[in-house]
Amino acid sequence: IVQWTPFFQIYKKQRYPWVQLAGHQGNFKAGPDQGTILKKLSAKEEQCFKMLMNDALRPYVPEYKGQVTSDDGECSYIQLQDLLGDFNSPCVMDCKIGVRTYLEEELAKAKENPKLRKDMYEKMIQIDANAPTEEEHRLKAVTKPRYMVWRETISSTATLGFRIEGIRKSDGSSSKDFKTTKTREQVIKAFSEFTDTCSHSIPKYIQRLQAIKAILETSEFFKGHEVIGSSLLFVHDRYNANVWLIDFAKSLPLPNDIKIDHSSCWNVGNHEDGYLIGINNLISIFVTMLEK
Ligand code: ATP
Ligand code: MG
Ligand code: MG
Repeated sequence: IVQWTPFFQIYKKQRYPWVQLAGHQGNFKAGPDQGTILKKLSAKEEQCFKMLMNDALRPYVPEYKGQVTSDDGECSYIQLQDLLGDFNSPCVMDCKIGVRTYLEEELAKAKENPKLRKDMYEKMIQIDANAPTEEEHRLKAVTKPRYMVWRETISSTATLGFRIEGIRKSDGSSSKDFKTTKTREQVIKAFSEFTDTCSHSIPKYIQRLQAIKAILETSEFFKGHEVIGSSLLFVHDRYNANVWLIDFAKSLPLPNDIKIDHSSCWNVGNHEDGYLIGINNLISIFVTMLEK
């Protein structure tokens, strides 16, 4: 017999709401305080959160509550607000924003020593046998930079400026099988499944995305950073729906002499991230779903 006692509520809070849709499992654990989580420390990400706590974006990111070290002193974490804390059996979706998910410097490094990679050629033809050039077919290999650029074209990243990383439904079923979800129609299908029993969430998501878009225009953080590999976390239950910006491990301060508008085309070296391309497409896709 389950009784609605305080114990049950605590149990429920700790055991059910938390779900991790991306990243390495070992990088997260429950926080020492109720409603918080710990993410393995990256000094760069911590810098971002410190700045974000004094930025216009603050209400749109998880609250940063400082650094925590594990009992044995081995591991440092940042303590963050658990965004699922106020939901009951939430549905959660992680969308990675931007027209590329690697840094300029990662591409540059891959180009320094462009060895031919048979493993990457194999991965490539498994997804699209026509992707390699004649020469690559002959060599049965591709270079890493070539592979990195190509990989962004198999999902919606390169064209729509975002891709679905994972979805978890309230019944506990989850999927990360979106690597080749690319077209607007495919995305709409996935979003429809995500929201199917909770259509109230669609207008709420649109409103929140529009608010995020407006705040991005005024944010000093956004103005000064190349925002790569960051996600929007969509969360809804039967009654509420909300969206936050998460994951700033690859958000880097722009070099002094470089300005970006987050919506121009990316060309190697110009540091554009396409963040606003993603936001605009997300809004327009949810609006299309509302009209259906
Ligand atoms: P990757 O770089 O592979 O995307 P990561 O290790 O940088 O992963 P995050 O992307 O920050 O990790 O988070 C991974 C997942 O953990 C998210 O998709 C989300 O499901 C969950 N998550 C992260 N931060 C929070 C938070 N503050 N509240 C609730 N859930 C979160
Ligand atoms: Mg992430
Ligand atoms: Mg990350």
